[in-house]
Amino acid sequence: DTIGANLDRAIAAHPDREALVDVPSGRRWTYAEFGAAVDEVARGLLARGVAKGERVGVWAVNCPEWVLVQYASARIGAVMVTINPAYRVHELEYVLNQSGISLLVASLAHKASDYRRMVEQVRGSCPALRNVFYIGDAGWGRLIEAGRTVPAERVREREAMLSCDDPVNIQYTSGTTGFAKGATLSHHSILNNGFFVGETLGYTEQDRICIPVPYYHCFGMVMGNLAATSHGACMVIPGPSFDAAATLAAVEQERCTSLYGVPTMFVAELGLPDFALYDLTSLRTGIMAGSPCPVEVMKRVVSEMHMAEVTICYGMTETSPVATQTRRDDDLERRTATVGRVLPHVEVKVVDPVTGVTVPRGTAGELCTRGYSVMQGYWEQPERTAEVIDAGRWMHTGDLARMRDDGCVEIVGRIKDMIIRGGENVYPREIEEFLHAHPKIADVQVVGVPDETYGEEILACVILSDPRHALSRRELAHYCENRLAHFKIPRHLRIMEEFPTTVSGKVRKIELREQFSAAE
Ligand code: ATP
Ligand code: MG
Repeated sequence: DTIGANLDRAIAAHPDREALVDVPSGRRWTYAEFGAAVDEVARGLLARGVAKGERVGVWAVNCPEWVLVQYASARIGAVMVTINPAYRVHELEYVLNQSGISLLVASLAHKASDYRRMVEQVRGSCPALRNVFYIGDAGWGRLIEAGRTVPAERVREREAMLSCDDPVNIQYTSGTTGFAKGATLSHHSILNNGFFVGETLGYTEQDRICIPVPYYHCFGMVMGNLAATSHGACMVIPGPSFDAAATLAAVEQERCTSLYGVPTMFVAELGLPDFALYDLTSLRTGIMAGSPCPVEVMKRVVSEMHMAEVTICYGMTETSPVATQTRRDDDLERRTATVGRVLPHVEVKVVDPVTGVTVPRGTAGELCTRGYSVMQGYWEQPERTAEVIDAGRWMHTGDLARMRDDGCVEIVGRIKDMIIRGGENVYPREIEEFLHAHPKIADVQVVGVPDETYGEEILACVILSDPRHALSRRELAHYCENRLAHFKIPRHLRIMEEFPTTVSGKVRKIELREQFSAAE
């Protein structure tokens, strides 16, 4: 199926069930209404002359129009380029030109971001960009208006020309470890991935999925939207950008059955002063992904947020994104120590990063994955594609992992984040897990920083549970002594109020390292 054909099945099967709810504005669409709204936008894009394969950019915070553009551009065979709302003019200009976007849909403004001003600033230097429409502005109305001149059949005619192997999406990676790269993904890749993630969660048309994660990333648009529509479930948008209180309020008000987030989002929700006042009893399942989940957080999510069937997903933008997922009935150990088993029709292997030979079970190596989910390549960057996809179509993830006897995969960390201290390999995750149990520590990140003697030394960046109770380096070292090998004990300590993150909520360790070096 193409994404449009798959949506048609849901519309035919459940026309009157809710497809999309926008909590801030109170707007809601049944599947029949959603299908009609998607067609309106699709006709608008056709009226603007968007050809098959042409790039349509979306630079917007979460809102219903974002979702409409996603499905409308898929219907007419356009390639949607999702642009991170945290980008500024420099990155925006790069993406607009790198992917050759001809039509851009953007938010007007959100919080301190004046999107219109930034777009106007770079427009002159983006020759391919012909049309810009702002959501919530008269321009959006004009797009819909223009579409009325295009007969509805034209959308179907275009759709009939498409194949599921056509590219539908260019997604830039989070930029956690450096500059973002544009992964080109097909209908087949992302629709299947969304579908199988939904299967693992047991989605049916009864489910209502709260999506506070950003849409520009596949966590929102594939694991959220495509998992929902391929099962006839409902997408619930709690707000334009992540807000812990608004998210829990949306779960309560809309009786959501599933909730998504990166671990830091769950930490923020659990930490709300009035957390206990929200009625979260409708929740059953959900997804935590993007970075490792501390055991303590998982325990509270299961017991206090009623998410007994919560799953962990592991993946990356380049693999649509999910490669492995825990099962709904996995125990706490599997959910925290592992990222579950490989999804159907996907392969994984763990290899020696130097020789490329598969290592025995239980041994750490680079995780590689192969299957329908692997991207077609980085958009117009064949050399960079060749660095990560080998001749056998295996995607080299850059993550260190171990394969267990039970078939579950343990993520050890990113190859780039591994600390080599005096010749010893140190995995930050292990130290982070250990320090999390310290009562004065609310959150912690461990990184390697340059050191003259050992090559690298260990820096612990800590957010205190209570700023009134200070934590000294001495105290930390004392806590670790006799419980951690000496070479794993953090030598440097930084107390912070928050960590630098990507907009999807992942901690940018590279920035922690830079900040430390700059301060020294
Ligand atoms: P960039 O490639 O631009 O540096 P990024 O790798 O963070 O950014 P994404 O594609 O959004 O961009 O994230 C994929 C990465 O996130 C994986 O390679 C892995 O390191 C990490 N990751 C994803 N899920 C998990 C998980 N469940 N546990 C641990 N790490 C995870
Ligand atoms: Mg990456």
